[in-house]
Amino acid sequence: MNDRAYGLISKLERTHSLSLEEYEYLITSRTEDTARLLAEKAVSARKSIYGNTVYIRGLIEIGNVCKNDCFYCGIRRSNKNCQRYRLTADEILQCCCNGYQLGFRTFVLQGGEDDYFSDELLCNLISKIKSLYPQCAITLSLGEKSRESYKRLFDAGADRYLLRHETADSEHYSMLHPSSLTLESRMRCLYDLRDIGYQVGCGFMVGSPYQSAAHIAKDLKFIEEFKPDMCGVGPFIPHHDTPFASKAAGTLELTCFLLSIIRLIHPPVLLPSTTALGTIDPIGREKGILAGANVVMPNLSPGAVRKKYMLYDNKASDGAESAQCKDTLVRRMASIGYEVVCTRGDIIR
Ligand code: SAM
Repeated sequence: MNDRAYGLISKLERTHSLSLEEYEYLITSRTEDTARLLAEKAVSARKSIYGNTVYIRGLIEIGNVCKNDCFYCGIRRSNKNCQRYRLTADEILQCCCNGYQLGFRTFVLQGGEDDYFSDELLCNLISKIKSLYPQCAITLSLGEKSRESYKRLFDAGADRYLLRHETADSEHYSMLHPSSLTLESRMRCLYDLRDIGYQVGCGFMVGSPYQSAAHIAKDLKFIEEFKPDMCGVGPFIPHHDTPFASKAAGTLELTCFLLSIIRLIHPPVLLPSTTALGTIDPIGREKGILAGANVVMPNLSPGAVRKKYMLYDNKASDGAESAQCKDTLVRRMASIGYEVVCTRGDIIR
């Protein structure tokens, strides 16, 4: 291994910080050896906080109607081939009930940006879930909203909010989104969420179109500075009905490399081994955990709508990706030495 890369990995482990140029160097000079060393150090950092436990969250995809037109996303407004759906409040409550019985203690409500899910509807739903399952955490992932809306949902009982920043470079941001969406607004949302009191998650796609190592270095710097409670990082995978249909997918190798770096930047971070990772490789979830991730989010949505929440081609929703197959997931995690725990799974600082 070259001395500089070795030195940078030690520095990252010790100080949890590198310069933009150093992050970029680590990425562009990466080899199997540097990836192995980073993963070893990431796993040891995670083990010292979380032992050999993996947290699970039940993901409920509440609807795929979206007013946005992100160039990468299969549920973008302009995709006329997407079969739209919205779950009713009762259907969502039924998912929580199923999830609770299966042992889930965090429910993640994710969906497109859809005004049908008004503050009033969401607040009623959140208070209902909280009154039925007071020991469970509620995570929302419903995109950009006003500070007032975020506050109302928080006051109704929501605990966490996932909003990937997608890229920390504004020019790159404008290559992935229409001009109505800006990095400035995304950042405003993330800081509002933090300020209101949510546990906040940011994140980005690995290998998104036009992404360079310099862009990723900026993402890492942002994570270093923002210190998110959660960080969603998965490979970009093209969807055939989007402007990025013919773009290449991100790789498992670079995603795992970055998961290890992020663990070392912010050791307590809740880091999912994403569905996208499980989609590009049959044992992608396990590989993500072995690179430093500590969360998995199997799907709790009703079977009838799972195939409709197609963010990218072939998105996995069966087997270990399905909450109903939790036993399979538990076995697979046990096979690599990890124990799935049924708790709220809060960050340990
Ligand atoms: N509307 C909410 C939002 O924008 O945060 C939540 C749903 S959105 C579809 C969830 C995440 O899916 C996005 O943050 C994006 O990073 C990811 N995603 C969308 N299209 C993708 C693709 N083609 N490949 C991989 N991930 C994708």
